[in-house]
Amino acid sequence: MDCLFCKFINKELKTDIVYEDENMLIFKDIAPQAKRHYLMVVKSHFKYLADMTENDSIMLARALKKLPELTELLGLEGGYRLVINQGDDAGQTVPHVHVHILCGQKMGWTPA
Ligand code: 5GP
Ligand code: ZN
Repeated sequence: MDCLFCKFINKELKTDIVYEDENMLIFKDIAPQAKRHYLMVVKSHFKYLADMTENDSIMLARALKKLPELTELLGLEGGYRLVINQGDDAGQTVPHVHVHILCGQKMGWTPA
């Protein structure tokens, strides 16, 4: 599978991992768009949310539900923003569903 994030998950490529469990991986974004910027991926390959069955989506729900437990580790105390880009208009560049976790600063809201 020629997918960058699958290669991080399978440890074929190194990245800056901050949390991992049997279901998901959280690592630092290489080009941060906020003071702290992480990417959360589930450990199965789906390009789009639309490719997931209801059963598959449980993995994503489980990953999201875990976030409050990681408040201290990720520095989420002040609040955080989650973004999932889907498709070209949204600017999705990596074809493996991922949740951007942005935090560590006040953020504006000016979508194009
Ligand atoms: P997208 O644009 O698909 O929503 O998000 C892809 C994200 O992956 C971008 O924020 C980009 O900076 C990040 N990214 C791309 N290549 C790498 C890489 O090699 N390592 C890491 N850690 N992040 C990457
Ligand atoms: Zn993948």
